[in-house]
Amino acid sequence: MINLILFGPPGSGKGTQAKLLVEKYKLHHISTGDIFRREMKNDTDLGKEAKSYIAKGALVPDSVTIGMLRKEVESNPDVAGYIFDGFPRTVPQAEALDTLMKELNQSISCLLELKVQDDELRNRLMERGKTSGRADDVDPNVINDRISVYKEKTLPVANHYAGQNKANEVNGIGTIEEVFGRLSERIDAVS
Ligand code: ADP
Repeated sequence: MINLILFGPPGSGKGTQAKLLVEKYKLHHISTGDIFRREMKNDTDLGKEAKSYIAKGALVPDSVTIGMLRKEVESNPDVAGYIFDGFPRTVPQAEALDTLMKELNQSISCLLELKVQDDELRNRLMERGKTSGRADDVDPNVINDRISVYKEKTLPVANHYAGQNKANEVNGIGTIEEVFGRLSERIDAVS
């Protein structure tokens, strides 16, 4: 099994690369952002709760997100592995993921961190906001808050996996194919 964490700030290209990686490595993609957006669209109780945080650029509370992730993994057994995209976003989420993997007799193979500088992230998100229909991609204040939350709460997750010798930094600047090539190289080295 290969279990990957696709990691990086908002706008770093995780969603785009996840699609390509799924195809190449036949892994099951779990994007917590996509799940929240689906729940919001269907106006479920989970969607309503998530919306209040997402609209501000804040994180949905760990208790909600961890339960949702666990359910998603448990309802998709017998896969060749998982790509976690947008999760874990806090150290407690990382600890919960490690516990879940252990319960399933599995482990995280590696964390791949896409490195992109803040100015480029802001440009990409504002550009995406023109067509994505995502309210959190339109307001520059919300975008800045998401980048700050990433630095404060999410970046420590990379250190958590560096402590397990599983963290990899990948240059996220370049064409989609170039970045994909860099990611594939790292994955092939651990699998
Ligand atoms: P981005 O494009 O900013 O990387 P996502 O599409 O992954 O964002 O997620 C959108 C929003 O959903 C986040 O800004 C956050 O509010 C919420 N969210 C997604 N994943 C998580 C998570 N693991 N923990 C808490 N909140 C999350």
